[in-house]
Amino acid sequence: MSVKERFLRYIQIETTSLPDKSTCPSTPGQMDLANLLASELKEMGAHEVRVSDTGTVYAVIPAKGGLQDRMGLIAHMDTSDAVPGVTRPRCIPDYQGGPVILDEGIVLDDEALLSNLVGQELIVTDGHSVLGADDKAGVAEIMEMASRLLAPDAPDHCRVCVAFTPDEEIGSGVDHFDVNGFGAEYAYTVDGGALGELEYENFNAASCKVCIRGLSFHPGDSKNRMVNACLIAGKFMSLLPEAETPEHTEGYEGFFHLCGIRGDVESTNMEYLIRDHNRERFEARKKRMEQTAEYLNQVYGPGTVTLSIKDSYYNMEEKIRPHMDMIERARKAFEAHQISTVTLPVRGGTDGARLSYEGLPCPNLSTGGYNFHSRKEVITVQALESMTDVLVTLTTLPDMKA
Ligand SMILES: [Zn+2]
Repeated sequence: MSVKERFLRYIQIETTSLPDKSTCPSTPGQMDLANLLASELKEMGAHEVRVSDTGTVYAVIPAKGGLQDRMGLIAHMDTSDAVPGVTRPRCIPDYQGGPVILDEGIVLDDEALLSNLVGQELIVTDGHSVLGADDKAGVAEIMEMASRLLAPDAPDHCRVCVAFTPDEEIGSGVDHFDVNGFGAEYAYTVDGGALGELEYENFNAASCKVCIRGLSFHPGDSKNRMVNACLIAGKFMSLLPEAETPEHTEGYEGFFHLCGIRGDVESTNMEYLIRDHNRERFEARKKRMEQTAEYLNQVYGPGTVTLSIKDSYYNMEEKIRPHMDMIERARKAFEAHQISTVTLPVRGGTDGARLSYEGLPCPNLSTGGYNFHSRKEVITVQALESMTDVLVTLTTLPDMKA
């Protein structure tokens, strides 16, 4: 089987993950894919193949030739519920440039992107679903790498621990991850975009619930008596920096994101997301929310505004910094295949960020795909092949401890 065939096989299993489900994995299709991957891994001769009862696939490819490192590779099996997940892929061999009509009114026409793909074989959707390259491209690339490392003519390589996780898109990908059982000293997620992406910085993240208590009277009879929670909510918003929102920020700029508001005179609730790459600025943002609440309580009376702030995840950078040889190792693997690396701060979180804080340093590598979470998602067969080559090379480099 080729990496292209693997990819086309995996994306045709619907694995959309859904929030607010009590089961893990959140949807049964993910378990179907997990079982398929486990049976393929067994057939290839991988060791210690198992599917946990929460739907994570684990397997081990034993070392060959005396290398001592124990490296992990991780991809997620689910796809985003932002777009339907039943995929009917279309291959366009020897793409000649120009817009690609996916369906009536749905055209892939990003010239800057497409001009780089001329001469390659595109894999696109029929305009009605995600393609699922996020992250089944990562799954297919790791599976193809595994089959090459388990073949009789495999190059010498380190021990490779493989895991495929469910429910990454709903933030639960590593809730049940067995870091000790996995058996790796360090790992990479294969869940990025364009070939050569190498990421080890992400946001520090918290969520903040703001509850505002008001006091209602008949509006005709309210002078100096009514306390309108909706208006205090507006005041709260106006006290935060106007330009520090998602739609005004990029790169290393953090933000306050008002993602929901619901209320009436007596009670108004707001939900904020707080994000910043820098830990001190992140803490300062949380402090600012608290100070804003304190100020409004001075104006409107104690207990008017209450806050609850919960940290969600942290920037993995501080956990990767002591292991920068991992980043060098990945860079060498890309460069061995004439792919230059691009390191950008992720404006979100990754499963690797959480694993890094659980003792498994875990930066993120590209898959080669574009336009994730969109009906315009696209990847090329050449990117799938190149990334597989990079992963194979990654396992053959000298031990980091040496
Ligand atoms: Zn992903």
